Amino acid sequence: MSNQPHAPSGTKHTTRHRRPTHPDRYERGTRSYTMSHIRGKDTTIEVLVRKYLFARGLRFRKNDKRYPGHPDVVLPKWHTIVFINGCFWHAHQHCEAFSRPKSNVEFWTAKLLRNRERDERQHAQLVADGWRVIVVWECELAKTVREERLAKLYRQITATPARQPGVIDDTIPTE
Ligand SMILES: [Zn+2]
Repeated sequence: MSNQPHAPSGTKHTTRHRRPTHPDRYERGTRSYTMSHIRGKDTTIEVLVRKYLFARGLRFRKNDKRYPGHPDVVLPKWHTIVFINGCFWHAHQHCEAFSRPKSNVEFWTAKLLRNRERDERQHAQLVADGWRVIVVWECELAKTVREERLAKLYRQITATPARQPGVIDDTIPTE
């Protein structure tokens, strides 16, 4: 399957008109191409995390549009919001899985930095509203480390007693 528009057959252009590389399209050369990156869709990594949490008995809302960033997992009982972030689109800092764009570098760099800043603003807003915000990164869900990360996520979510509005626990280590 290709999203590339094909020129209809029989319309050979003699001009050497070359379409500019389109910055809005996802670069096929980047590592994360196969990872869906669009917030609000059920991507593989989101499904993975949700399935795990559900199997552990947690109940949640998904892609809740009432909150900044449309969080992937919202656990009202635990006052916890979980974002499951692709390392490319959310510009995971110091991440080995994050590969730099190979073309349109300036465009992508600016865009990804904006994404990261937007994430930070949204997370700060959620924390101000009394939510604990946890980010699970795509690279943390690589096969070799996945199990450990998911177990830790469960502990992070359930670390504090349920239903304590206004209590923000920032003492839970992220590493
Ligand atoms: Zn990463």
